[in-house]
Amino acid sequence: MQLALCTWQEVEEYLGRRTGIIIPIGSVEQHGPNGLIGTDHLTAEAVAQGVGERLGCLVAPTLAYGMSQHHLGFAGSATLKPSTLMLVVRDVVQSLAVHGFRRFFFINGHGGNIASVTAAFDEVYAMRSLGEAGQPVRCRLSFWFGPRTRALTAALYGESEGGHATCSEVSLMQYCRPQAIKTAPMSPHLAPASGGFFDAADYRARFPDGRIGSAPSLASPEHGRQLYETAVEDMAEAYQAFLAC
Ligand SMILES: [Zn+2]
Repeated sequence: MQLALCTWQEVEEYLGRRTGIIIPIGSVEQHGPNGLIGTDHLTAEAVAQGVGERLGCLVAPTLAYGMSQHHLGFAGSATLKPSTLMLVVRDVVQSLAVHGFRRFFFINGHGGNIASVTAAFDEVYAMRSLGEAGQPVRCRLSFWFGPRTRALTAALYGESEGGHATCSEVSLMQYCRPQAIKTAPMSPHLAPASGGFFDAADYRARFPDGRIGSAPSLASPEHGRQLYETAVEDMAEAYQAFLAC
């Protein structure tokens, strides 16, 4: 079920039965020579909607923009400052909490979001603990891939998976958006591994084509299909465990 495609009466009826909701969150940032700018939010969204269909739970509109300052050296990338992202996450959670939602499961596509999103969760908890505002909500952030998906990724790509513009996310994207599959020469085949980075100019200097440690020319839509089905299984299990905690 997609929140965006419900009426308010349908949401009210849902809240009479359940209080959990899934929120996909990602980024708008370069993903190397054959990866799409929307990879991180489109992958998170696809897996979230798969879980929503499987379990009959609500999926909120995707928070597409994330904390991507280090990718601004590449055309098309856009970022929220950490402080902005924190406020967006806090306000969305507190808005939905007004209506009775209590469990917020964020399915994430982008590592750069972790610090800000978890800080936003603490902001929500702190406001309630201090008696300022808020409802007794619980929030969790999970990458779209769980243990089964990690094992599948390791079997498919080994060390070539990498850390950014990874084989698995490019494959999942190719499965979800076959009309937008790209090919591009990549040299070297395996991108330089991460030794860390600072701002956007520093990132661009260290990782000239945008990839970190990956060889996404290995990606395929068939791999993407396997990854999608496995990820939905992983996330359905993780969401149900979260509801029970
Ligand atoms: Zn990504």
